[in-house]
Amino acid sequence: GLNVHTAVAMKKKYLIIGAGFSGTVLADQLVKNSDCVIDIWDERDHLGGNCHTSRDAKTGIMVHQYGPHIFNTDKKEIWDYVNSLGEFRPYVHRVKAMSKGKVYSLPVNLHTINQLFGKSFTPDEAKVFLETLADTSITDPQNFEEQALRFIGKELYNAFFYGYTKKQWGCEPTELPASILKRIPVRFNYDDNYHNNIYTGIPVNGYTALMEKLVDHPAITVTLGKRFDPGMDLEAYDHVFYTGPIDAWFKFKYGRLGYRTVTFETHYADGDFQGTTQMNFCDEEVPYTRITEHKHFTNWEKHDQTIYFKEFSKETTPSDIPYYPKRLEQDKKLLLQYRTDAEALQGISFLGRLATYRYMDMHHVIGEALDFAKSWLSAVKTGQKPPVFPNREA
Ligand code: UDP
Repeated sequence: GLNVHTAVAMKKKYLIIGAGFSGTVLADQLVKNSDCVIDIWDERDHLGGNCHTSRDAKTGIMVHQYGPHIFNTDKKEIWDYVNSLGEFRPYVHRVKAMSKGKVYSLPVNLHTINQLFGKSFTPDEAKVFLETLADTSITDPQNFEEQALRFIGKELYNAFFYGYTKKQWGCEPTELPASILKRIPVRFNYDDNYHNNIYTGIPVNGYTALMEKLVDHPAITVTLGKRFDPGMDLEAYDHVFYTGPIDAWFKFKYGRLGYRTVTFETHYADGDFQGTTQMNFCDEEVPYTRITEHKHFTNWEKHDQTIYFKEFSKETTPSDIPYYPKRLEQDKKLLLQYRTDAEALQGISFLGRLATYRYMDMHHVIGEALDFAKSWLSAVKTGQKPPVFPNREA
């Protein structure tokens, strides 16, 4: 019969570069649905990528190290999946906005409209009113600003979007795609849930604990603090799944894709600093975009002290962590060049926010990794060329 060594040698050996949600969900699906061993490398000293959470040593508060992450999805299967990885507690994200020294409700809802214009409109009255503000001469909005002027008009746009967007993206909102604004709802009732998705919550033990559970398997070996370098010999692996920046894989040979990065200034205080998780600062003159006070994510915990982050946005330099893909016209051209080269490679797939260069939320990333694992495994089993990317379009 087979001895242990032959049995092990028959297993496929995969490398996953990056231990965020893409990499860890994929690893879990591959070990559960095929006979393989997996190495995961991550250059940071922790799992979780930009979703990483850890308890602050001074206060014991669970901190979202790379900025606020609120789990939300409209898909029951994704909600069930994340709940199978750890306990979630109810949390609805309610964001406040500071504009010209006054606090408003966000996303734009009936309360915001009534606050800004000093009115007490009913839903129908607010709709009629907003139609008088909207610029209906814009029939097919081509950018962020046109989208805003077409649907909410210049008063709301100037109060909440122009300054924040200019700070966040470092350019005029006319240069940005309308899709960025479409992330945020506009409502004619008092629903101030920042997200439209019905399933929402916060993991009791943080996001990193969910990913620890995903890689807790004898066939998965995670090596932290291991930097991938495009020149490395990866011959030992039957397939490599790369979740880092696609331009870095190709040593930036066509140039660098544009990203915004954010930096955080950490502050401590006694008690409650701002009374809510997230306050946006919409005026251009305020140097930061928002303040996140982490204790409000977990209102079932009690903490005497508080920790909050002031968030600043800037252009990404080679030594910064890339956060938000800018996707300007020149970026899309570069992306297409890299994708064409990637499609011609053998034995490598590209997955996740950085490798596909898209603005993705956690539920998108998780859903796509689950789907990708399925289609990749089925292609391999049926002897077809496995997919290089999870998405068709660049
Ligand atoms: N935005 C804005 N003002 C706000 C909140 C958001 O102008 O108070 C714009 C800004 O351009 C931002 C985009 O809407 O990049 C998407 O906002 P979201 O809150 O979804 O951003 P994230 O939390 O992903 O940084």
